[in-house]
Amino acid sequence: MMNQWADLHIHTNFSDSTLSVSDVIVDAYKNGIDCIAISDHDTVSGISLAIEEAKKYQIEVIPGIELSSELNGRDIHILGYMFDYKNETLVKVISSMQHTRVERMEKMIAKLNDLFHVNNISLEEVCSIAETQSVGRPHLALKLLEKGWVGNIPEAFNRFIGEHAPAYVPKYKQTPFEAIKLLHSAGGVAVLAHPMVTQVDELIPQMVEAGLDGLEVYYPNVANNITEFYEGIAKKHHLLMTGGSDAHGTAKVYEYIGIKKIPYSLVETMKARALRYQKVL
Ligand code: AMP
Ligand code: ZN
Ligand code: FE
Ligand code: FE
Repeated sequence: MMNQWADLHIHTNFSDSTLSVSDVIVDAYKNGIDCIAISDHDTVSGISLAIEEAKKYQIEVIPGIELSSELNGRDIHILGYMFDYKNETLVKVISSMQHTRVERMEKMIAKLNDLFHVNNISLEEVCSIAETQSVGRPHLALKLLEKGWVGNIPEAFNRFIGEHAPAYVPKYKQTPFEAIKLLHSAGGVAVLAHPMVTQVDELIPQMVEAGLDGLEVYYPNVANNITEFYEGIAKKHHLLMTGGSDAHGTAKVYEYIGIKKIPYSLVETMKARALRYQKVL
């Protein structure tokens, strides 16, 4: 049978989801998804395992990533697809991002231990929550919850580790333009993640100028008129339209895999566009 449905935005415990790669594949299978992209934050560590595991279920795995970037003080997530996930430059850049994430986590932990007048969160226990190669605030939020210092994840962000909260430490981020170039140089396409959440519409033309290939117009819990609005922007700039669940297991508001799915034809359109960036031998 032909592939029908794709979910192109899925996290695993290689970044900040509570789901392992195998959990993801099983859930995708159960929910009738034929094609997935693992799009972990700043890491490609889950991809080869996913490709291997998915064979048993005849699910197609396309390479994905969600790169952190920043412009004018705004956090912008750039999704990458169809790139060579062994590309040397890409691997080098993301391993340096992982390194700075660890240093930043040490600072946030020090601040929290200070706030609570304790010395009882350690880097090791935060990193050991998962297989993570890309330690982030959601891991820390889970730790605060586990210790009973907060009652839920949003409270952890609001009171302690959100952008304006006392234990927040920013992390270095590349610009979206750099992220786009990096993905192109690795043979992939660059897509602006969840524009309806990030709300940087005024920056879209600049990103298109820099080579942005698509917009993630299909996202959970979005009103139809908003989706149509972003479909309109995508059409205007001749951009790909992608979508997915942004499933994180229980590390975020729970969205199951496939809660947002897109027709496979959109994946085919994306594959055709990626050829632009893939070197012909
Ligand atoms: P980091 O990359 O370590 O700065 O963590 C960013 C991630 O934290 C985002 O991708 C979200 O998944 C999560 N996050 C950010 N703000 C909140 C919030 N207010 N509530 C829950 N999760 C959040
Ligand atoms: Zn996340
Ligand atoms: Fe995101
Ligand atoms: Fe995401």
